Amino acid sequence: MRTSRIPGFYNKEITERQQLLQELYEGTDAEDVLFTKEDLSLPIDTANHMIENVIGTFGLPLGLGLNFYINDKEYIVPMAVEEASVVASASHIAKIVRSAGGFTTEVSERVMIGQIQVVGCEDLESAEAAILSEKTSLLEDANASYPSLERRGGGAKDLEVRIIGEKGASSYQKMLVVHLYVDTCDAMGANMINTMVEALAPTIEQLTRGKVYLRILSNYADQSLAKARCVIPPHLLETKGFSGEAVRDGVIHAYEFARTDPYRAVTHNKGIMNGIDPVIIATGNDWRAVEAGAHAYAARDGQYRSMSTWRKDESGNLVGELELPMSLGVVGGATRVHPTARFALRMLHIQSAKELAGVVVSVGLAQNLGALKALVTEGIQRGHMSLHARSIAIAAGAVDEEIEQVAKELIRLKEIRVGKAQELVASIKK
Ligand code: NDP
Repeated sequence: MRTSRIPGFYNKEITERQQLLQELYEGTDAEDVLFTKEDLSLPIDTANHMIENVIGTFGLPLGLGLNFYINDKEYIVPMAVEEASVVASASHIAKIVRSAGGFTTEVSERVMIGQIQVVGCEDLESAEAAILSEKTSLLEDANASYPSLERRGGGAKDLEVRIIGEKGASSYQKMLVVHLYVDTCDAMGANMINTMVEALAPTIEQLTRGKVYLRILSNYADQSLAKARCVIPPHLLETKGFSGEAVRDGVIHAYEFARTDPYRAVTHNKGIMNGIDPVIIATGNDWRAVEAGAHAYAARDGQYRSMSTWRKDESGNLVGELELPMSLGVVGGATRVHPTARFALRMLHIQSAKELAGVVVSVGLAQNLGALKALVTEGIQRGHMSLHARSIAIAAGAVDEEIEQVAKELIRLKEIRVGKAQELVASIKK
């Protein structure tokens, strides 16, 4: 099995890293697309077919999350992100977790939900009954509108009806909502589901004698969940000046803060998305869809809370879990259109959307622990700002060797500010 543990990767030159990867991926289908052989950037002509009013493309750093060992399999995880420390922190925690046996994941069936909104029904209960009496033929019609999905073993599987609007609600507030449950196989499924619900709308109008307005996928993908788990003995958490037990307890205190206080929960969860979004972006998936679903799931009991949980087990180990809706795919959307996304999926060696969902939540959990571990020990600034200093130097106009020179000086002076960096750049250029 190809290892994801590559000691010293951080300190190597970019060309050395690329060379190392080529050796690592020799003989696999990822080899032919490795950096030196094929340009991974998005061609402008392709971009012009993807969205409107195109004038260029936008690049992001692509780094590798290393050390990930998930369900007894090695993963080198491509991450597209502009924020310093994210990739380093995820890799640091993945290394700790692999010493404890790695992450384990559970991924539910991949069922996405399509919604059809019906208004103006005279009697909502009889409209509901009319739809349910035709459930079988409605499911057949949905599948007929996108037959390839059923041929793959997926397709529309079930249908439910919800009545919204309490007694006394206005005609705008009263509605009936049809939920179509669709197994989208390895696709995120938005376009597939939208095709299906649009196809059903005329029949639903006939059955209910109401008017259909919205026919669209719900991004609250709570039937398509992925959960990652790690169990870490405290000695693996020991860090300069802090015992493993102290770090473990600090993490649990930090979790309780995020579980109960929305002000903290938002930042805690932003840290989780720091790990999740870069993988979603690198693989060409729709990160707005994943973000929207994840935050809604964090508020599923009525209060916005921590997405992850952290506790101590009977043996004193730190146990972390992260469960989130994962509306993503390994086909469809930009996954096969963007050259970097194609490359990222080949590098990950991922066979299915379920497998990708498991990797994504594992990275989110690692990122969460990375932030919490720093916060409950030396604080976030030291590690973060030393990396951030390089971006500050570039923003202040430093080029080539000046970048490292200015960054080092900013760290030495403990003044990581653009104003100070500009002064330093000016004095070097003189
Ligand atoms: P696509 O429309 O690209 O459909 C998926 C494609 O993958 C189909 O053409 C299908 O082929 C093909 N395919 C090949 N192998 C498989 C397989 N094993 N399982 C499933 N499909 C396979 O993408 P989606 O329907 O997934 O829609 C995702 C896109 O929709 C994203 O770009 C998203 O941004 C966008 N979107 C999102 C919305 C939202 O989030 N609310 C709303 C609207 C759009 P075949 O046709 O032969 O079956």
